[in-house]
Amino acid sequence: MAYKTYDNDNIFAKILRKEIPCDIIFENNHVIAFKDLHPKAPIHLLALPKGAYVDMSDFTNNASTEEIAALFRAVGELAKTYGINDSGYRIISNCGIDGGQEIPHLHIHILGGKQL
Ligand code: 5GP
Repeated sequence: MAYKTYDNDNIFAKILRKEIPCDIIFENNHVIAFKDLHPKAPIHLLALPKGAYVDMSDFTNNASTEEIAALFRAVGELAKTYGINDSGYRIISNCGIDGGQEIPHLHIHILGGKQL
């Protein structure tokens, strides 16, 4: 049985299908990234797999090695592009109810630009 059913109507699914406008700052075969609508730091980016994964548990259990590598490589690329590779940053992925996840499509928050 599936871990959780993926909701095709979640807002990030709509962004991925280009049904909602969004400034995509990074894209490759497996990943897209954009700026968080309500930034919690001077730099607040979201990186997500293009595949339909509900959260980190779904992703780590069901995604291919290539997809998993691509997402974390993208985080590293974004840190370099946004100039926080040396100053440092925090990555967060809220998972499920206790993790406080609001949007049920896996995403990694990348926060930086000041001491957190
Ligand atoms: P979560 O709580 O699921 O880990 O985080 C969801 C994040 O998505 C929040 O930080 C929120 O500000 C951001 N967000 C929600 N809707 C949109 C949207 O339509 N566009 C963008 N760029 N970010 C969004």
